[in-house]
Amino acid sequence: MSDVKQIRGLAESALASMREHGIPPSPENFQVWFHYHAGTYGDLNRLIDTLATDKKPFDAASNEALYARFFGGDTQSMTLSTAASTEKILQEVLAQIGLANKDAAAYASLLQESSGRLEGGMTAQSLAAMISTLLTETQQVQARNAALESRLTTSSEEVSVLRRDLEAMQRDAQTDGLTGIANRKRFDMVLRSAVHDAQDFGRPLCLIMADIDHFKKFNDLYGHQMGDQVLKLVARSLKDCVRTGDLPARFGGEEFSVVLPNSTLAEAAEIADRIRQTIATRRIVRRDSKVELGGITLCAGVALLQPGEGVGPLIDRADEALYIAKRSGRNRVITEEQARDPDAITL
Ligand code: GH3
Ligand code: MG
Ligand code: MG
Repeated sequence: MSDVKQIRGLAESALASMREHGIPPSPENFQVWFHYHAGTYGDLNRLIDTLATDKKPFDAASNEALYARFFGGDTQSMTLSTAASTEKILQEVLAQIGLANKDAAAYASLLQESSGRLEGGMTAQSLAAMISTLLTETQQVQARNAALESRLTTSSEEVSVLRRDLEAMQRDAQTDGLTGIANRKRFDMVLRSAVHDAQDFGRPLCLIMADIDHFKKFNDLYGHQMGDQVLKLVARSLKDCVRTGDLPARFGGEEFSVVLPNSTLAEAAEIADRIRQTIATRRIVRRDSKVELGGITLCAGVALLQPGEGVGPLIDRADEALYIAKRSGRNRVITEEQARDPDAITL
């Protein structure tokens, strides 16, 4: 978005909407409304439109919730200096927009005053003087607008650089150092937001919880470093098996999870089983000596979000299914439906 006029238009619309709903013009609130008018996130717009249609109140608190949901709300992971710089640039842009508005108003009133004088009749001399004043003022307004435009372009470039830095920092803060996939923090954020979306829009959402089988024994036999290689292999397999839009994450230790928006229990179970099979068929080979260490397996539990349910019970049910998978012999995928009827599970 490099067109300064377009950015200015969006900023003004954002401020107008915030005024309309009585929302304080903080940088976070501004971000929500700026992106609403820019149409950056379809779901954000749908949600705001639904809230408006349902005549739900927009206040500072509901706006904060929207910010937390769509923009991470994760000011802790921003360094304070980046947050301060962004805020400073934003204040400057807002001040510049204010100045431009004042300038335009003064120019308009000069034009109006001149037109009034024209209607009243003028001598050739005073007409020449008035045209000269108008010309000078027009040139000055043009010059000020050009200066303003270049200042706004610089500001928008600075904001882009800061945003890229911030995105890189956030990516790092939400990535698992060993495996390179999402860490627990990102998993928590994505799952929370996916549960909200699923509940608000009536879409299905599934969760897979997976745990490597007898991993302690593997570590004891081949050492922690080989164990770390296995964790990387599992993360890679997870990434290879999921669909675009699913989130594979390291839940902690040797436990992994996948958030699957828009997925039925059967579809999620199929993906979980693909992950299980992929890992079970890989052979672990020592890189230096090329000695084969055999294979590893994992178990997975799969659960489907129920209407009105929150994050906690969904994780619990996936965990319960995982526990049954472990008890029924390992190298297994069990859905919550199967977990409710353990007699049906073949050992
Ligand atoms: P089960 O089949 O019941 O899951 O048995 P398990 O041995 O996999 O489970 P347990 O919970 O007893 O052991 C988990 C092991 O995972 C113990 C711990 O050393 C290992 N582990 C956790 N995090 C890491 C890690 O980052 N690197 C390595 N190499 N091992 C890890
Ligand atoms: Mg475990
Ligand atoms: Mg385990």
